[in-house]
Parts: sequence; structure tokens; C-alpha cells
Amino acid sequence: ASAVEVAQAHLDRIAEVEPKVHAFLHVDPDAVLAQARAVDGRRAAGEPLGPLAGVPIAHKDVFTTADMPTTAGSKILEGWRPPYDATVTRRLREAGLVILGKTNLDEFAMGSSTENSAYGPTHNPWDLTRIPGGSSGGASASVAAYEAPLSTGTDTGGSIRQPAAVTGIVGMKPTYGGSSRYGLIAFASSLDTPGPFARNVLDAALLHEAFSGHDPMDSTSIAQPVPPVVEAARQASVEGLRVGVVKEFGGDGYQPGVLARFQEAVDLLESLGAKVVEVSCPSFAYALPAYYLIAPSECSSNLARFDAMRYGLRVGDDGTRSAEEVMALTRAAGFGPEVKRRIMLGTYALSSGYYDAYYGSAQKVRTLISRDFDAAFHQVDVLVSPTTPTTAFPIGERADDPMAMYLADLCTIPSNLAGNAAISVPCGLADEDGLPVGLQIMAPVLGDDRCYRVGAAVEK
Ligand code: GLN
Repeated sequence: ASAVEVAQAHLDRIAEVEPKVHAFLHVDPDAVLAQARAVDGRRAAGEPLGPLAGVPIAHKDVFTTADMPTTAGSKILEGWRPPYDATVTRRLREAGLVILGKTNLDEFAMGSSTENSAYGPTHNPWDLTRIPGGSSGGASASVAAYEAPLSTGTDTGGSIRQPAAVTGIVGMKPTYGGSSRYGLIAFASSLDTPGPFARNVLDAALLHEAFSGHDPMDSTSIAQPVPPVVEAARQASVEGLRVGVVKEFGGDGYQPGVLARFQEAVDLLESLGAKVVEVSCPSFAYALPAYYLIAPSECSSNLARFDAMRYGLRVGDDGTRSAEEVMALTRAAGFGPEVKRRIMLGTYALSSGYYDAYYGSAQKVRTLISRDFDAAFHQVDVLVSPTTPTTAFPIGERADDPMAMYLADLCTIPSNLAGNAAISVPCGLADEDGLPVGLQIMAPVLGDDRCYRVGAAVEK
């Protein structure tokens, strides 16, 4: 099929299900078809194109796109047109991927359900009354609902793996620095990591390879080749591999159906020739509190740039008010409650006199978590756990309870704090609600290929 035919089929599907799912914030069918025609033209002209040329993709609305609006799910960026493409965006275009539009997210990627989007929630295609995960919930829902075969996401504390788990698809957080943050609207810069969503592990690996790799525009980008992720996904074997089950993830607070599917995945790994052992990572118990000091601290600094002068919204600029008053009015009107909560938390944690007690302690915990991973990866090649303690929860259930919401990322956050690679692959449906369960596979820094190798062997 031509790229135009494939794009049209996905535009038709979007028109059909979008009124129910609301995965997208922006779709311009004419612009999509123009991109597809250009790819067909490149092919006709004999240009050598990669494996994903002509494949449609849904792009998280936190990456800048010069030809589409970029909101980060916030009112404060409503109407903003970025003057440049993010590196990830540029590489998608170079690979000939056809960008279908921009997907919904929790405001500035802060959340686990997309309920924090200023533009309304996205619905889980498995059950429209439930959340599709977050913050990349539009990205996960668009792939699960067959609106797009691939999508991009970002993972700061679990925002790719958790939505992948609760919508029954594959989502990968590459090694920190393995994918570029240039043009990614910053939430917590020491944690933010772009990564792929797909309906199977090999497709995720192809997308991973297409947009990852060193970028001189990002000072924390790793100057090393992309690990051999596609080869590993094709290899799909666990023969002789040592797999560690993280002892600290399980038990109280975990849904029985999640634990049952997880145990089956572990048994499957063993039957395929892996050597399974239990591994203890005692500091993981402190990952969540450390994250909720570090991430808000960095966000309070990153979000200072939304000053009513540079981007998007400006409130109260009627010639009578000072710049400071306009800034205060704009930020009061433009940021939602979760973003304000985090700016306040972060500003407090960083204030003089409190810095050592809060931010300093959290950074020490971060080091302990990295050491737990180092010790574990001396014993085993990969670690496994459930991706999330529960399946998709009902929209509204945790909206007024930030602590309950934060628990969705209990198992994913350690890999953000340590910067190592981790993937979520589908491992079946929970008995009690028939909803998807995710298996998380964690590998060392720059061991991304191991996530794909093991994931491809066991994906359901
Ligand atoms: N849910 C976590 C948070 O709210 C993680 C979000 C993310 O990874 N972007 O911070």
C-alpha cells in the first residue's frame, strides 16, 4: 500500500473512534496526507528509505513540532506554535514516518491518568470509563485503539511503561541520555526520557532505533551507538539468561490478578531456559518519596520560563498592570492544580535552609537506588516486576487523591532515578476485571537490547 492509503485508513479510524477515546489534541488530515504524499514521492524518486517509511505515528504533544501546535496539555501554551522541531520530531520525519497528530497528556507530563490535561481526559479503549494511564495516555490509547500503529511518549517516572501496561501494549523507557531531550518541553530534566509505544516488541525496537542516538543539541545525550535493539527483538530468546525477581515489588497493595499474570510470566521465563532468582533491592522502598522531591524541585525551576512574555497565554495585559502582575495572573490562570502543587512543593524543597533536609536527602536516596541496581546486575542480567500494582482504574477514582495517584508508579520510578533501561510488555488479562497487565523488564544502563530480547520472548 502507498503511504497515502495507509495514512487515509488511519485517519478514517481516528474519525470513527476519537469522539469516544479522545487520544488526540490535534489532527490535520490535509497535512497528514501531504506528508504521506511526500514519502511516496521520496520512494518513487528512488531514495533509500528505512523500515518505517510511510508508517503513521501519533506524537506526544510535549515534543515541539514546527508545523503543529504544541501545548504540553496546558492552557498556558494554548495557541503556541513552536519555531522549531524537537530532535525526536526531526528524526521521525527523516525516517519517513507520517505524523498523524499530537496526543493528549497530563499537563506538563505530571500525572498517571491524563486527567490532569487541561483539554479533558483520554479514555481507555478497553473500557471507556477507565484511565489509559499517564502521562502519555493519549499515546497509549491511540495505539491500543488502532488509531496509530506507533506513538511516541516520554517517561519521567513511568509515563511510558504505566500507560503501556494498562492499555495492553508495549512501552519502552530507554537508558537516560539514549534519546534526545532537545525540543522536549522539560518536566524534570535529570529524569525525562523519550521512548516508543507499539503493539509488539519488534515494532517498538524499530521505532526506538529510528529516533534515538547521540544528539549534540542535548548536553546529557550519551555519545555512544544505540544498543542493538532490533537485533535483540528478533533474537527473542532467554536461554541461559539470569532473571531477578525484585522481592520488594509484590504483596500488599497489589491486585491479585496482576500478581497471578506476573507469576505466569516468571514461570514462562523459566520454562524458556532462563535461570530465575529472587533479588532484594532494599532502597527501592524509598524511591517514591525521593522522586516526589526531585521531580517537583526540577519542575519548579523548569516551569519558571512560562512568564507570560515568551510563550502562549498572557492574562491581564491591559496597559495598567506591571509585568510582575501580568505574570502572576497568567500563571494563576494558565497552570492547573497539579502543576501548582508541584511548583509549590519544589520551591519549598529547594528553599534555603531546607535544601539539605529535602533535596539533598532525596539525592542520597537516588545514589542508594543506583547501588541496588549495580549490586543486582552483578547477580542477574535483567530484573522483572509487575509494571503497575493494579490494572486501569476508573476515571475520577484517584483524581482528588494525589497520594493514591502517585502509587501507580511505584515499580517504574527506580529506573528513572537510576537512569537504566526498562520496558513494559503485555502479559495477559487480570481475572477479576479482564483488563491488561504489564510485565516490567529492567536492564542496566545501555543494556536496552536486553529489554527487547526478553520482552520479545515472553510478550502476549
Ligand atoms: N506519574 C508520575 C508523575 O506524575 C510520572 C510522570 C511521568 O513519567 N511523566 O510525576
